[in-house]
Amino acid sequence: MSSFLEKIQSQLNSQQFEAVTHVEGPLLILAGAGSGKTRVLTCRIAHLVYDYQIPLERILAMTFSNKAAREMHQRLKVLLGDESDRRYPWISTFHSVGVRLLRRFGDRLGLDPQFVIYDSNDQLDLIKESLENLRISDKAFHPKAVHARISHWKNEGLFTAQVKPLNFFDETTLQVYRSYQELLRKAQAVDFDDLLLLSSQLCSSNEDIQAQLRGQWQHILVDEFQDTNRIQYRLLKQFLGEHQNISVVGDDDQSIYGWRGARVENILNFDREFSSCKVVKLEENYRSTGHILEAAAAVIEKNEERHQKRLWTRSDHGSKLKLAILEDDREEARFVITEIKRKLHAGVSADQVAVLYRMNSISRMFEEECLRQGLPYKIVGGFRFYERREIKDVLSYLKFIMNPWDLISFRRAIGSPPRGIGRVSLEKIEQAAAEAQESLGNFLIREAELPLSGKAKKGAQAFAELLKWGRDLVDSDGSFVDLLVGLIEKSGTLEQLQQDRSEEARDRESNLQELLSAVQEFEELWRPNSENQREGASLLSSKIFDFLERVALISDVDQLDERTQEQVTFMTFHAAKGLEFPLCFMAAMEEGIFPSSRSIDSPVQLEEERRLCYVGMTRAMKLLYLTRAERRRSFGSINYGLPSRFLDEIPEAHRECIVDHSRSEKAFFKRKSVRDQESATADFDEFDQELTGHFSYRRGEKVLHPSFGEGVVQRVEFLGDDECLTIQFLTKGRKRVLSQFVKKSA
Ligand code: ATP
Ligand code: MG
Repeated sequence: MSSFLEKIQSQLNSQQFEAVTHVEGPLLILAGAGSGKTRVLTCRIAHLVYDYQIPLERILAMTFSNKAAREMHQRLKVLLGDESDRRYPWISTFHSVGVRLLRRFGDRLGLDPQFVIYDSNDQLDLIKESLENLRISDKAFHPKAVHARISHWKNEGLFTAQVKPLNFFDETTLQVYRSYQELLRKAQAVDFDDLLLLSSQLCSSNEDIQAQLRGQWQHILVDEFQDTNRIQYRLLKQFLGEHQNISVVGDDDQSIYGWRGARVENILNFDREFSSCKVVKLEENYRSTGHILEAAAAVIEKNEERHQKRLWTRSDHGSKLKLAILEDDREEARFVITEIKRKLHAGVSADQVAVLYRMNSISRMFEEECLRQGLPYKIVGGFRFYERREIKDVLSYLKFIMNPWDLISFRRAIGSPPRGIGRVSLEKIEQAAAEAQESLGNFLIREAELPLSGKAKKGAQAFAELLKWGRDLVDSDGSFVDLLVGLIEKSGTLEQLQQDRSEEARDRESNLQELLSAVQEFEELWRPNSENQREGASLLSSKIFDFLERVALISDVDQLDERTQEQVTFMTFHAAKGLEFPLCFMAAMEEGIFPSSRSIDSPVQLEEERRLCYVGMTRAMKLLYLTRAERRRSFGSINYGLPSRFLDEIPEAHRECIVDHSRSEKAFFKRKSVRDQESATADFDEFDQELTGHFSYRRGEKVLHPSFGEGVVQRVEFLGDDECLTIQFLTKGRKRVLSQFVKKSA
C-alpha cells in the first residue's frame, strides 16, 4: 500500500476506505448526515491523483455551491500540496461547468462567446418586457409565476417546441417563453437555467463535443446527489464515458430542493440504472453528540416516504437540546445574541456559531441586534452585494462595454445617472440600431446620426463618448481598476452621490469603494491560463469577463466576502446544507414559518419541510438551541404563532426548556429574566472548554515559523484533520499555514 493510502486509511473507517479505494465503475454512497460522505469524495480525488496519476483536470467533481467547491479544493490542497493549485481542477457547480462549456463551444449554438449571464432581476425585466410586447396583463399573469414556470420547463430539459401546455396558464406562458428566449438571444445573454439546458443541447447535437468531453473526464464525482434535477442528471450522463466511472454521494433524508425540480429518484434508482454499481453505506456519524443525533433521527422518522437508516456515534450524549420560548421576535433576537456573546466571552470563536432559520426575512431582527450589541456577523444570501442598485449600475457599464448587444445593461447604464433619455428616445435608438443592423454599442460608438434632439441627444452623445473611452482602454489593455474608477467618475455617478447629503448616499459611496477594493484584489490575484484567456482578446477583457462571470455565479447560498475577521454566520437551512458548526441556533420554530404556511396542507411538502428540519439539526456538532417567539411582526402585522410541530417531535429525553417567557409564565419570568438566562446557561462551561480546547493554538498566541519568523496567531481552524493558522507575521504580513510548521514562541 502506498504511503499516501496509508495516511488516508488512518483518517477513514473501513466502509469509507472501501469507497475511496473503489476505482473503476459506478459507485453509490447513500448515507446519513455527518457520516463523512464529503470527506470520502475528497479523499477519492486525492487517491486517484496521487496513486493512479490521474491528472486533476481529468476529474470532474460537482458540488452544490461555489463555497463547497472552494472548501473541497482547500482540503485537497492539504492532501496533495500546491500541486492541486497549478493544475486547474474541475471542482465546481453545475452552473460553472455550463459557463465554461458555453464559452468554449457556444458558437455552435450561435451564441457569442462573450455572452452575458442575466441575474434574476434582469430575467424578470425580460419577462415583463415579453408580457408587454405580447400585450398580456402582468396582473393576470404575474411575472414571477410565469418565470417560475419557464424555469421549471427548462429544468425538465424542455425547449419551447417540446413544451406540452396543460392549461390556459401554460399556453400563455409558452408564448412568453418564446418571446423571452428571443430577447435573450438578441442581447447575447443567457439565464441560469440556460447554462444547463444549452450545455446539454450542445452535447446532444454535437457528437464530437460529447466525445471530447467523455474522453476528457476519466472520473466524475457528485456530492449532494439527492438534490440534482432532471437536466443535471442528463448532463452527467452526457459527460460520462464508457468507463462508467461515476461516484455519487447523498442522503435521501436531506433532499430539500424538490420545489426547484430536484428528483430524489435520481439517487434512489441509481443502483438500478447502473447495474454494476457498488453500493456503500456509512453509518457512523462523526459530527454530532448523541442527543443531537438521536433528536434528529426521531424527527426524520416521522416521514413516511423514506429509506430506513440508522446512524450511531461514539461521541458522548453531550448536552440536551436547549429550547427557549421568548415573548416576541425582538426578545428572541436579544436572547440569541446575548447567549452568543456569552460564549465568545468564554473563548468560543465567532466562526463556530451559526444561526439558522427558514426564511431570509427572519434575519433582519438578528442583524439589528448584532449591530446593537456589536457582534461581528455575516448573513449568507441576505447580503446581496452585487444586487445593490449602485453596484448593478456600474456593472451594467462594464457589461455593455464587453457585450454591445446587451440590451438590459444598455438601458440601465444610459439611465444612470439620468441623462434625460426617456422611453421614447430609447426606443428610437434601439430602432435605429436595428435598422442599421448593428449592435447597440457599435451603433452608438460609430457616432452615428442619432435620431434625437436637445437634452436627450446630448445625453446619448456623452454616454457614447464614455463607452468609447472604456472600449479603448480595454483594447489597449489598461488597468481594470482605472477603468472602473473612470466609469464611476466620468459617468457622473460619483458627483451625483457626493451632492446627495443623505445617509443612504454615504452607504452607496462606501459600496462603490468596496467594489473597487474587490476589483483591485481580483486584478492582483488574476493570472492568465488556458481556461480564462480568450483568443484575440486583450488581457484586460479576459480579466473583466472572468470577474463578471464570478459575480454572476455567486449563488444564493454563497457568501461573497470571505473576510478574515471571525464572524457569526446567519443563513437559511437551505444554505446550511453540507456545513457544520459546533454551536447552532434554530430560530423562529413556529408553525406557519417552519413548517411554512404553504406546506402545511400538503403531505409531500410537509415531508420536505421535515427533511429541512433534519438538515438544520444535523449541522450542530456540540450544542443546539431551538428558539421560538410567541408574537412576531410580519408584513406589518403582529401574529401569534403556535410552536412548530417539529419541536414536539423531539423526544423529551433529548430536550430541555431553559427559558419560557410564554404568556402564562411571563409574569414570573419577566422579573428575573436576566438572571434566569444566566443560570439557565451556567452549565455550559464544560462545553465551552470543549469547544475551545481542541485546538492546540489560541488566538493571540506568539509563534515562530522557520522562514517567516515571528508572528501572532489571528485565527485557528480545521482543514480536514489539519489545524490551520492565520498568522500575522512581523515582517512578512498575514499568511495561512498548517500548525505543524510553526513552533510556539516564548
Ligand atoms: P452531510 O450529510 O451533512 O453533507 P457528510 O456525510 O458529507 O455530511 P462530512 O462533512 O464529510 O459528512 O463529515 C462530517 C464530519 O465528520 C467532518 O467534520 C469530517 O471531518 C468528520 N469525519 C468524517 N469521517 C471521519 C473519520 N473517519 N474520522 C474522523 N472524523 C471524520
Ligand atoms: Mg457533505
